[in-house]
Amino acid sequence: MAEPLRLKAKSASPGIASGPAFLAEEPKAPSAAERPGAAPASRAVGGYSALEKAIDISIGELEHLAEGTDAESRDIIDFQIEVLRDPTIAEATGARMQADENVVFAWVATLDAYIGELEAADEEQMRARAVDILDIKNRVLGALAGTPIADFPPGSVFVGKDMEPSRFLAHDWSKGGGIALFAGSTAGHVALLARAKSVPMVVGTGRFSAVDGDPVRVDGDAGAVVLQAGGMLSPPLAPAQMPAGDTQTSGSEPRTADGVPILLSININDPAEIDALDPATAGVGLMRSEFSVTSVADAANEERQLAIYRRVLEQAGDRPVIIRMLDIGGDKPLAGLADLPALSASGPRGIRLLLAQPEIARVQARALLRAAVFGRLSVMLPMVTFPDEVDRMRELFREEAEKLGRRAMPHRMPPIGMMVEVPAAALMLDTFGSAAFFSFGTNDLTQYLAASTRDDIEADAGKAAPAVLRLLAQAVKLAAGKPVSICGDMAGNPSYLPGLLAAGLRHFSVAPARRPAIRSAIIGLNADGTRAAGE
Ligand code: PEP
Ligand code: MG
Repeated sequence: MAEPLRLKAKSASPGIASGPAFLAEEPKAPSAAERPGAAPASRAVGGYSALEKAIDISIGELEHLAEGTDAESRDIIDFQIEVLRDPTIAEATGARMQADENVVFAWVATLDAYIGELEAADEEQMRARAVDILDIKNRVLGALAGTPIADFPPGSVFVGKDMEPSRFLAHDWSKGGGIALFAGSTAGHVALLARAKSVPMVVGTGRFSAVDGDPVRVDGDAGAVVLQAGGMLSPPLAPAQMPAGDTQTSGSEPRTADGVPILLSININDPAEIDALDPATAGVGLMRSEFSVTSVADAANEERQLAIYRRVLEQAGDRPVIIRMLDIGGDKPLAGLADLPALSASGPRGIRLLLAQPEIARVQARALLRAAVFGRLSVMLPMVTFPDEVDRMRELFREEAEKLGRRAMPHRMPPIGMMVEVPAAALMLDTFGSAAFFSFGTNDLTQYLAASTRDDIEADAGKAAPAVLRLLAQAVKLAAGKPVSICGDMAGNPSYLPGLLAAGLRHFSVAPARRPAIRSAIIGLNADGTRAAGE
């Protein structure tokens, strides 16, 4: 048997995984033919024809649903089909598109106007129809979002140039498996997802040839990939193994050696990761909501978002959950985003994008306001640079809360805080009077402070750390007693813990897999970051 071929790579997520190779095609915009049932150009949003196709798909789904149902359900479905076929709906949507609205938001605005009319009707029977329209609004949005990109077999090792976050999130990792990328980045979003889910991953292998199904081993500890065509590699490790060494799994919050309590929360990307919230966790310090939407059509779907947030809040119970508004744009593209007229040229990211495209922000604000009644929700704004951005978003929340109030929909105004991940904000933190709390995002902070690209921050992180720590220490003082936490990757690296404690940080939010290591490091240090006696 041929000698195994061992290729040097960079570790992006620790652990070892073996399995048959799945050779991915180069990422490209999937065509309609590759994604049966999807509206043409749906991921790129498309024009009116994409909407027509999505409506046809929805009618087909409804007709299928109607088969064999009782007479009452049939009536509702017939009414929905009738509305979908109603030319005035199509015309109103078309008119909005002519006025330069994107197809997704033209559809949402048309249907919302219809829902509003029904809700305001005098007759009870008419008002009851509003929910049927809401249902078809979302069904068509689902069809516009299209069917997900084909998954790959559970337990296999994904081999390719790069991987899309939505592909990672759609895959079932409970059967094991790993990722080996020819290119990729250890600081990229898929690497972040892989670390959070303890999926072994290596990047930068360079292009190598392998055959689909060949046994491959990803060594995320040493940073290597091993190929053995026609041979057997050692069996895969149990999936999603947590690193050993959690010496304090009791329900109590960790304390430093000199007795200062430290809050340890988790970051979640996939809503399913909320299952990692055990009694030893203070709550969710960061939920990256952008990983719950895969297209602009999802971003326009209030009910879908509400269901996701509600599930997370209910599972968290009485523990606080910080959901960050969509951090999209820039290096976090969302399918269909570039087609939105306000965004094509300037390419803003985070809160600037949300303010430039308020339809997206308004949908999410309503979903968050409605979700807030189900738990201890706080909302966090991404990539804030100037204080007026927080003020404007708070105003948007107030307007949406008022609208929900007029419609008698249960909602609650959550505290609204901000990420501190842009140096201009960190330096001026005392001027952000309307932010309820701050959370340091050291991934972007390091990138912008060291003039790196996100893909290079790993190389620069060590050298930039003293500058980042100095900035954090100053910013904690400027926060003047408002709650502060840190949710960037630096929080999950025990080697930075002494510096972070010395900077005054007492609340750390880390990927679930990093929690045991940080927990043990906390108890070996004093609150000023010095090593405890005897350690
Ligand atoms: C950060 O920048 O540190 C952060 C937590 O945000 P993200 O990694 O999602 O950009
Ligand atoms: Mg960030």
